[in-house]
Amino acid sequence: MPISPRLGPEAVAANMADYKPRYKPQEALLEANRCLFCFDAPCIQACPTGIDIPSFIKKIANGNLTGAARTILTANVLGASCARVCPTQVLCEGACVMLDREGDPVKIGRLQRYATDHVFEKNISVLKATAKTTGKRVAIIGSGPAGLGCAAELARLGHSPVVFEKTAKAGGLNTYGIAYYKMPPKVSLEEVEMIRGLGVEFRCGIEVGKDITTARLEKEFDAIFVGIGLSGSPKLNVPGESLPEVVDALHFIAQIRMQPLHKVPVGERAAVIGGGNTAIDAVTQARRLGAQDAAIVYRRTQSDMSAYEFEQELAKIDGARFLFNVVPVEIVSHGGHVSGLKLARTTNVNGQVRILPGTEFIEPFDMVIKAIGEEKQVSLLKTLFPNLELDQRGVVAHDADTGRTNLPKVFAGGDCANGGREVVDAVAEGKKAARGMHVFFAGEKVTGPLQASRLGVKDGAPMGSGFDKPIRVPELEEEYFKRGGK
Ligand SMILES: Cc1cc2nc3c(=O)[nH]c(=O)nc-3n(C[C@H](O)[C@H](O)[C@H](O)COP(=O)(O)OP(=O)(O)OC[C@H]3O[C@@H](n4cnc5c(N)ncnc54)[C@H](O)[C@@H]3O)c2cc1C
Ligand code: SF4
Repeated sequence: MPISPRLGPEAVAANMADYKPRYKPQEALLEANRCLFCFDAPCIQACPTGIDIPSFIKKIANGNLTGAARTILTANVLGASCARVCPTQVLCEGACVMLDREGDPVKIGRLQRYATDHVFEKNISVLKATAKTTGKRVAIIGSGPAGLGCAAELARLGHSPVVFEKTAKAGGLNTYGIAYYKMPPKVSLEEVEMIRGLGVEFRCGIEVGKDITTARLEKEFDAIFVGIGLSGSPKLNVPGESLPEVVDALHFIAQIRMQPLHKVPVGERAAVIGGGNTAIDAVTQARRLGAQDAAIVYRRTQSDMSAYEFEQELAKIDGARFLFNVVPVEIVSHGGHVSGLKLARTTNVNGQVRILPGTEFIEPFDMVIKAIGEEKQVSLLKTLFPNLELDQRGVVAHDADTGRTNLPKVFAGGDCANGGREVVDAVAEGKKAARGMHVFFAGEKVTGPLQASRLGVKDGAPMGSGFDKPIRVPELEEEYFKRGGK
């Protein structure tokens, strides 16, 4: 049977509602007053954009919400979306002193949202476009968090960025890829408008390499920022993959974000293949759209899953099933539609997944969602810039502090350069590249946000912040990298 929408508008809207709703004023005040306002705040070091967290929380405690939002947005122009989507447990909140004292960190993300919602709702502009312009034009390829972080910082430094985006709307995965219950697309689109207000020009629906050549960009612009992200899931390479109910997780999530929720088709029994955060986002949303059964199908054990533990917990609460140590060997069909997954059991031999012969069985499913990782954009990058150096992972080799690549005018950041991390990393890298370009144009170095630090930073510098010297929670980071990152 073809799949169809399963729930009415009210039911699906309730299921997809904000999973961490905005604080009420009294809640925000209570939470803000839990902050110890550490002199040597470890949360600032743990935030890749180095937001002065104690300072914005103090402003919330004093009732100065506009000032709080200004502190946030000057450090991180996507502070409103990061407030909703950052895995705060392994970033700022994971480093909070209150975690040791009370076992419960200050809810930095929710306070950040409280302050940024205030200015977006009241239409208060806290970032100002600069009056002085340098005449330097920069082409930005890709309007995701990296491109936006770069464009906003360039505009604030007086340069003229033009963002080329192949899709109809700007924002990258913030607009098209985040789980709906974490953040609806509206938040991302409002951020794009704020950045447009700084003097950034957006040319959406223009694919670089197809609608405009890089040779032309190189001729017409003083520098280029590459922020093209990653691409969709690789093929499963099993029979039945071209059946109509087999979809890529990114396509499934984009549909949820672009169509009225009650019109998004979902299976009655959906299988999600993969073990990362994208698989979790797909399985939870399949359940919330009304799938009776939604199951993660993963070839290794639960402890091998790269999805964060708190994301796995959410999927369990949503009623998702987990099938471990199994791989799909065929997508079974009936009358041209998916009717099940033929799975084989697996074992681990020296880190390699091995299929156990004679263990095949069929699970009934009418939809299959592929979430087996995103591919690096090697061939696109090679087509756009034949001489651009890539590292062994297939991402753009670049200087981490300035975004510079081996090509003199070309800078890079975000997923296409870091291999795929978080929104906050992409914004920070875009901003660093903008500052790298500023040095390239004028030789002028712009310093990052600073905090007095008793910890000090090796090499003698007594000051720093997460923007210049990001640290994340070491134990959690170690685990994350052991699992091969996202
Ligand atoms: C399903 C999913 C869920 C996620 N959830 C979270 C989360 O909850 N929290 C979190 O912090 N991170 C999350 N991430 C990661 C986060 O979305 C990325 O790290 C971040 O979006 C990277 O930003 P970027 O700008 O590098 O790339 P992208 O956001 O991918 O943006 C790249 C942009 O470049 C455009 N583009 C590509 N090629 C061209 C071209 N030739 N011409 C013009 N434009 C082009 C694309 O259309 C796109 O808009 C998630 C990722 C996925 C896949
Ligand atoms: S890590 Fe994310 S939520 Fe935490 S302070 Fe930085 S931007 Fe805000």
